[in-house]
Amino acid sequence: MFEKPVLIREDGLRHDGRRPDELRPIKMEVGVLYNADGSAYVEYGGTKVLAAVYGPREVHPRHLALPDRALIRCRYHMAPFSTSDRKSPAPSRREIELSKVIREALESLVFTDLYPRTTIDVFIEVLQADGGTRTAGLTAASLALADAGVPMRDLVAGVAVGKVGGVLVLDIDEVEDEFGEADMPIGYAASIDEIVLLQLNGVLTREEFIEGIRLAKKGAETIYKMMKETLHRKYLKVLEEV
Ligand code: ADP
Repeated sequence: MFEKPVLIREDGLRHDGRRPDELRPIKMEVGVLYNADGSAYVEYGGTKVLAAVYGPREVHPRHLALPDRALIRCRYHMAPFSTSDRKSPAPSRREIELSKVIREALESLVFTDLYPRTTIDVFIEVLQADGGTRTAGLTAASLALADAGVPMRDLVAGVAVGKVGGVLVLDIDEVEDEFGEADMPIGYAASIDEIVLLQLNGVLTREEFIEGIRLAKKGAETIYKMMKETLHRKYLKVLEEV
């Protein structure tokens, strides 16, 4: 993209017609892969993400095993076909960073001490990127862990708030991320009211930061409800089958 698009239109709506506090259309499903212990597919508008969880299982290589808790490993990866320009398949610095922050967010919620000497492996594959891949990836990973039956203190819903054209907006897409002034992804565990991931790219005033957190929590609560419903749906289906 070469020319800066109009991010906030004269009618106060965003470039794609959303209100500032509106999420993109969200879809989610669990149990989408047979071979993984848990899996989930999540869409935030044009962002499409798949997560797969294996474990708790034996650690290889063995020397990585922790005597008192499970090791959580996480790989965030963008498929080479996920962006308009083909992305190099080699892990980028960005992917290494995102794998780390997502792992840390999940580690704070999983009861790792229940499974010493094991590993829980989380794979996040971005199939199509249109902004907010780390937050959609975190939501998908949390659903996949729940689908695998891994005990956790809470689920976590990810969503990013941005500042575009001077306005705070919820769930930014790629255009808003690229041309906006700030981007603040959060991961929110709604039942225990804890923020387990918080990053900020750009500058916000103190007031904007506080308002941004409020907006992000509100959006994350909506996503969190959808996550619970998605998990319920799966178990109702299992009940029907037995
Ligand atoms: P997030 O996806 O969590 O918002 P970033 O803010 O780093 O993370 O990226 C914003 C968006 O920029 C991504 O969602 C994606 O649409 C785009 N993007 C990121 N990396 C690349 C890349 N290597 N090639 C093309 N587009 C990319």
